[in-house]
Amino acid sequence: MAYAAKVRDALREEIDNIESAGLLKEERYIHSPQDAWIDVEFPAGSPLKKVINLCANNYLGLSSHPEVVSAAHDGLESRGYGMSSVRFICGTQDIHRELENKLTEYLGTEDTILFPSCMDANAGVFEAVLSEGDVMIADRLVHASIVDGIRLCKAAYDSYKHSDMGHLERKLEEHQDKRIRLIITDGVFSMDGDVAKLDEICALAEKYDAMVFVDDSHASGFMGKTGRGTHEHCGVLGKIDIITTTLGKALGGASGGCVSGRKEIVELCRQKARPYLFSNTMPPVIVSAATKVIDLISGTTERRDKLEENTKFWREGLVEAGFDIKAGESPIVPVMLYNAKLSQDMARDLYAEGIYVIGFFFPVVPKGQARIRTQLSAAHDREHLEQALAAFKKIGEKYGILGLGKKEILEKFGN
Ligand SMILES: *Cc1c(COP(=O)(O)O)cnc(C)c1O
Repeated sequence: MAYAAKVRDALREEIDNIESAGLLKEERYIHSPQDAWIDVEFPAGSPLKKVINLCANNYLGLSSHPEVVSAAHDGLESRGYGMSSVRFICGTQDIHRELENKLTEYLGTEDTILFPSCMDANAGVFEAVLSEGDVMIADRLVHASIVDGIRLCKAAYDSYKHSDMGHLERKLEEHQDKRIRLIITDGVFSMDGDVAKLDEICALAEKYDAMVFVDDSHASGFMGKTGRGTHEHCGVLGKIDIITTTLGKALGGASGGCVSGRKEIVELCRQKARPYLFSNTMPPVIVSAATKVIDLISGTTERRDKLEENTKFWREGLVEAGFDIKAGESPIVPVMLYNAKLSQDMARDLYAEGIYVIGFFFPVVPKGQARIRTQLSAAHDREHLEQALAAFKKIGEKYGILGLGKKEILEKFGN
């Protein structure tokens, strides 16, 4: 009787409030593997529609790559389905350590420890390494999982304005009395696709005797000349003390994450990080497939090069058509619409045209910053992008926004 009518009503009211604010998230059911084309059922119960996927984190197109799928089968055959344990009891196989070593080499660090996800890596690492008397100084736009990790840690917390190096420097000065100063940033910020100024951050870290933490989830595997990540892109390989990243985006897209970096930091995570100690090991299927992914991308830059070409083509095409996009180099390409309703209307119309994109608006992005975030993949061929571009032009024309900037769009559609 605990779940009484009163409780149900209160919870129902909260859901209704979410819905009436237009913020209810609806799932779309995909009936195919993750790829350039997907079969989608939306709304639930509708016939399947074949659409070009422009919103997956499948940057390298490896989510359904035949060699990756085959490696997953090998893992299943040779090491079984589940480990039924956490790592330190009886959940560590040889292949877990092999994957950690491969990630260490790929990322150019000293050691690596796997976690069930990058969310877990971020939840565990700060508390394991820092204590009272230390300080975490984070960019104000870091990922939600870092925010949670910071909450779980007893060290002091401070923040600097997004990518504002002057502000970061003042904070570092202020915290010279602390034992450890840890600067915390995403490598690529997921909503704007902008890259952290890691060269300047590392220079400040040196000047003020601080450590640097980078979450490279939206960069590992493709940013930088050989795809190592934003540390390669910014010319600071070997200078980042802690890298966390996910195996759930470019690196195969299934799940899993890691902390990679200084030996002592990784060892402290092995001793103390709670999601590592108290949550189940990554299953052999994923470990085996992720190892294949690292092998594939270590041998050739073909896939990250194709992604770079696709990104260039897509960015240039949108600009030429008259869309207002966030400039940059990452395969995250936000098409700025500013007005929340416009972002929803255009996403719906694009879906009708066979293009799967999502409109983001407050609170996912700041008020007045609504957008459609497009994401490129090495799985896209030129024809996919040409077709998508044609659809974007058609819908952009329909709403009369081609060639308009922020001011004009807001005048036309309101805030
Ligand atoms: C996606 C993402 C995560 C979460 O990764 P999971 O492995 O899916 O938990 C963490 N940090 C950043 C910056 C991300 O983009």
